[in-house]
Amino acid sequence: MTGGGPSAAALHAHAPHALAANPLDRVGTRRGDAEWVAARMADPASRFVPFWRGRNLVRFDNNVPAAVLLEASALPPLHQPPALLGLDGERAVFAVDLTPLESPLPQSVGEFEDLWRVGGMMRAEDAALLGHAKALMHWQARHRFCGVCGAACLPEQAGHVLRCTGCGTSHFPRTDPAVIMLVTHGDRALLARSKRFRDVRVFSTLAGFVEPGESLEEAVAREVLEEAGVPVASVRYHSSQPWPFPASVMLGFRAEALDDAITLGDDELVEAGWFSRETLREPEGFSLPPPFSIARRLIEDWMAA
Ligand SMILES: [Zn+2]
Repeated sequence: MTGGGPSAAALHAHAPHALAANPLDRVGTRRGDAEWVAARMADPASRFVPFWRGRNLVRFDNNVPAAVLLEASALPPLHQPPALLGLDGERAVFAVDLTPLESPLPQSVGEFEDLWRVGGMMRAEDAALLGHAKALMHWQARHRFCGVCGAACLPEQAGHVLRCTGCGTSHFPRTDPAVIMLVTHGDRALLARSKRFRDVRVFSTLAGFVEPGESLEEAVAREVLEEAGVPVASVRYHSSQPWPFPASVMLGFRAEALDDAITLGDDELVEAGWFSRETLREPEGFSLPPPFSIARRLIEDWMAA
């Protein structure tokens, strides 16, 4: 696949994260050309990325999952128009939500899987493409009615605008910013165990959503103080990762603790502590976050420094 802009390597100071470096040219300036979009939709060369009840369609080959893109003729009857993801060379790629169907496709075509489970096992391009489709379809599904007047919304701009049939308000795709930060104190890093991981003892970086009226640096400082009771300074940007679980972008930071006393604050964490590089190189009795996560990259970059 070939994208429309500079290469991923040219854009990123760090190697791009999993779920980033989407290979499609998003052709944002052509979405408003309804005739062109309709022609792409009718083009037998176009491909469709199915989405169903939060899951993406994959096929396993020797236990390695790959994205399944369908021809229009292989699609079941659709309840809503496909949304244009972009161009792969000359070929248009659309996302389609099959959620209203009980059993949308025969099993021989592939299986609907949780991207969280399979994303780290697949080709980077496939994972990025599926994440893109998942995030856009999730947004459409959650904005069927206008937040201003309550009337139904209909897609425009090849699925990238939902326009209210009552008051005419245009609603645009939402991405929720979340900060994620590796906090250090001297030669140790602050990691914590969230109550979200109940079955496995995963120690990871702290993270949280950015609140209205807050800079990213302020969000970093507030989250660390709220969750672990640790004051921080020197907040520095590291890198970002699209995180379609369900609709975020993770904004990675480093920060320095002014004090190493930990006081678990809100209900988010069950355990937190300071870890040396040696302890993290050979974790005993705990594990680190999955390799495809920005949390893991933040930890590994610090370990390598
Ligand atoms: Zn409205």
